[in-house]
Amino acid sequence: MTKAFFIDTTTCTGCRGCQIACKQWKKLPAEKTVNRGSFQNPADLSFNTYKLVRMSEVEIDKKLQWLFFPDQCRHCIEPPCLEAAGEPTAIYKDKATGAVIYTKVTKDLDADAIIESCPYNIPRKGPDGSLAKCDMCIDRVSNGKLPACVQTCPTGTMNFGDYKEMRMWAQARLAEVRRRFPKATLVNSDTLRVIYLTAFEPTSYWQYAIAEHRELDITRAVAMRQLFKPFTQFFAQLG
Ligand code: SF4
Ligand code: SF4
Ligand code: SF4
Repeated sequence: MTKAFFIDTTTCTGCRGCQIACKQWKKLPAEKTVNRGSFQNPADLSFNTYKLVRMSEVEIDKKLQWLFFPDQCRHCIEPPCLEAAGEPTAIYKDKATGAVIYTKVTKDLDADAIIESCPYNIPRKGPDGSLAKCDMCIDRVSNGKLPACVQTCPTGTMNFGDYKEMRMWAQARLAEVRRRFPKATLVNSDTLRVIYLTAFEPTSYWQYAIAEHRELDITRAVAMRQLFKPFTQFFAQLG
C-alpha cells in the first residue's frame, strides 16, 4: 500500500525537531547562518537542507499570527519534476510507497528546468550539478520505520502511514479544526502524498505552499519539453 504524510500545522510549535532529525538521519552538514530578524533558520531549503520549518509573522483579521510550515517535497502523485526529467535513472517513483526519488544521475539533467517544473519550489542543485530533496526516508520506511522527521515530532504535527488512512485522518481533523478556524483547508490534498492542514490561507505561511497559481504554466512548459524531446534527441545523436 502506498504511503502519505499528514502535517497538521495547527499543532506545530516551531521547535524544529523535524528539521534537525532530517539533518541527523541524512548526515547533512549544518548551514552557516546569519541573524535575519527571524527564528527561521536557515533562510531556505538547500542541497544540504531537505526539511525547513518556515516561520512567518502576519496580521490576519487584525490579530498577529506566528505561523509555522514544515516545508519538504510533497511526493506528488503525478510529479511534474519526474515528467520534466523523462529519465527514470535520475528521477523515479518508488512503486511500494509512491516516494519520488532523485539519484546522482540528476547531474546529467537540465537542473534549472527540473527546479522550474516543481510547483512547490523544492529541488536544489549541488556543487556537482546533481539535485537533492527529501526522499521520504525511503531507507527507513522500506524497513518498517517512520521517517526521521515524523519519529521525532513531539506534538503529533507530523504523521505518516498508509495513503488512505492519512487522507481519512486529514478529513476528520479538518472538520474538527474548522469549528475554530472556518478558513482551515487541506492544501492540494488530492494530488499530493504530503497533506498539509492549514488554519489560514496557505500563502500566509509560504508563497509556494499551494500550487494552484502556477499549475497552468508548468503544464505548458513540461508539455513543450515533451513535444520537442524526440527532435532534440535526434539532433543530439547527429552531434
Ligand atoms: Fe527529511 Fe526523511 Fe523527513 Fe524527508 S522524510 S524531510 S528526508 S527526515
Ligand atoms: Fe517533484 Fe516538487 Fe512534486 Fe517533490 S514537490 S515530487 S520535487 S514536483
Ligand atoms: Fe513542528 Fe513537529 Fe517539526 Fe516541532 S518537530 S517544528 S512541532 S512539525
